[in-house]
Amino acid sequence: DVCVLGSFMKDLVARAERRPMPGETLHGTGFAEFLGGKGVNQAIAAARMGARTAIVGMIGDDRYGEEFLELLKTDGVDTDWVVRHPELGTGVGLPLVLPDGSNSIIIVSRANSAITAADIEAASPVLTSSAVLSVQLELPVEASRAALQLASAAGVTTILTPAPAGPVDSSLAAFVDILVPNEVEAAALTGLDCNDSQVPVIARRLADDWDLRGCVITLGSRGAYVLDRSGDGAFVIDRSAPAGAFVVDRSARAGSGRELRIPAHPVATVDTVGAGDAFCGSLAASLAAGAPLADAVRLANAAGALSTTMHGAATSCPDRSAALALLDS
Ligand code: ADP
Repeated sequence: DVCVLGSFMKDLVARAERRPMPGETLHGTGFAEFLGGKGVNQAIAAARMGARTAIVGMIGDDRYGEEFLELLKTDGVDTDWVVRHPELGTGVGLPLVLPDGSNSIIIVSRANSAITAADIEAASPVLTSSAVLSVQLELPVEASRAALQLASAAGVTTILTPAPAGPVDSSLAAFVDILVPNEVEAAALTGLDCNDSQVPVIARRLADDWDLRGCVITLGSRGAYVLDRSGDGAFVIDRSAPAGAFVVDRSARAGSGRELRIPAHPVATVDTVGAGDAFCGSLAASLAAGAPLADAVRLANAAGALSTTMHGAATSCPDRSAALALLDS
């Protein structure tokens, strides 16, 4: 099973020709609302990739909170561990998108910022009984640390997406098995430019500094890079097996290195928002099903690519059969 600890963010997206000047009221050209937040996106991605998935987090006692619970239930995500804050509302994001696609975003974390280490303690049954715990950095770091620590002590495989980019509390490192930064986050963590020749250097440095079992760097339209320090990489995905199943296939060994650059799938991309979350949710689902890292990354690379062919974040996550079909094509 997969457990995701993370944020709930209701996005209210305005489109406009330009940014308003101070004091100005500007007519927009479009509006859309989405349910997102990295926690929610990753949980839905993991569920659609076949994993039994639970989410831990905090929402408000309000209409947006209701919308989240409904959405997550539609995808079969266990919401029993979601706490409703009595006063603070559900987190909101207010992106402004300009005609060239660039955006500026205001985030008001609200209930997300109120989750405490004590709340995490209360969720300990699900945090310690899952096969994989996935955490990002949109919640208070004390909560993230408490969850990673509990899970890691219980032998749960822990994944950290160090997003949003910025300095990361070094006390998290001891409890993280697999770190999954994108290019911007990888550069922020190491101070190195994440160009093609530096990617392996960055992955090795992060693996050393954080004492990781694996480091996966997502490279947008360039695919992904994986450094696996855990096993012999002798597994492959069995496409005939039931959803989520993986089997050992010694014959595939030659193709499963410990350091791999995996090119992106060429797809008709319309919106890359949420690609990283689709990737991480998929990665968590595969690892929970027993896949070795390189194979989990291959499938995640297909899931990430497919998510860019649809608008939205949570809603653009593909299901497992679609991702396997792209992997096969
Ligand atoms: P983030 O969304 O966190 O910025 P990336 O942009 O690195 O993360 O995307 C995550 C993954 O999604 C990539 O590693 C890749 O597998 C897939 N992906 C992203 N953009 C594309 C694209 N344009 N074409 C194909 N795959 C993509």
